[in-house]
Amino acid sequence: MSEEKLFTQNYGEMVICDFCNGGEQTMGGCLIGSYAVCGDCCESHGYYKADEIDEIFDNDKTFADNVIAYRKRVHGSGDLIITIQSF
Ligand SMILES: [Zn+2]
Repeated sequence: MSEEKLFTQNYGEMVICDFCNGGEQTMGGCLIGSYAVCGDCCESHGYYKADEIDEIFDNDKTFADNVIAYRKRVHGSGDLIITIQSF
């Protein structure tokens, strides 16, 4: 039986806030565990002052730029490649 590649997509450049599903062009943001939270959600929920914050992102960069830089720093690549195959 042959394998057929149905779909491949690199989601590495795609960034969405885990709380509001948007926010990629907001400034700053933070990381709570494995959740990336955009600048607007951090502001409105007061997360910048919370104890459980793992990392506060640079407020001079967009949330999207911060998350992509974080992925490269932690994982060595910003890529997130998804392939769907049939067997
Ligand atoms: Zn958000």
